[in-house]
Amino acid sequence: MPLPIGHALAGLACAQVRPGFFFRNRWYDAFFFVFLANLPDADFLPGIILGHPNLYHHGIFHSVGAALAVAAVGGCFFYFTGHRVWTRAAAIFLVFSSHLLLDLFALDLVAPYGLPLLWPLANRYFIASHPIFINVIRSGRANDFFISLFNRHNMSAAGREILILGGALAAVVVVRRLLKKKDH
Ligand SMILES: [Zn+2]
Repeated sequence: MPLPIGHALAGLACAQVRPGFFFRNRWYDAFFFVFLANLPDADFLPGIILGHPNLYHHGIFHSVGAALAVAAVGGCFFYFTGHRVWTRAAAIFLVFSSHLLLDLFALDLVAPYGLPLLWPLANRYFIASHPIFINVIRSGRANDFFISLFNRHNMSAAGREILILGGALAAVVVVRRLLKKKDH
């Protein structure tokens, strides 16, 4: 699993494709993209409450089925706010799925390896044979889970994520500016 910084940069890259897509206020909009891009890792929370953070991590909340369910819930929210539902539900699905894609390409040394990408159609776990991101070292205990994330190994993992996904974000910004210039 990449760190939240990697997923946040991926979310911001998605946000730059169509700034103001969800909310007119660009800060709310960017925050919502970052929230969606990190949302699958909310599956740490029940485990943290029970004292074992990894208990439900990389379970069914890391799947296309969960992405569809979250898109349906988000679509309902935007329906009640009078927005176009389908395009927003599709965007929610894609940004949530950006998380699954990054996790798929991350080295995973904690069982279960990879993620149940196609749940509920298939229960098997998927992981890329050639990872792009390195693994994150973390404690399996709730009491030192957050503090355990701050170590030299994870700092170099974060550095790699910033380089790759920060580069992707910069590329999206540059392409969007170039396209904007062409329109004028
Ligand atoms: Zn994840």
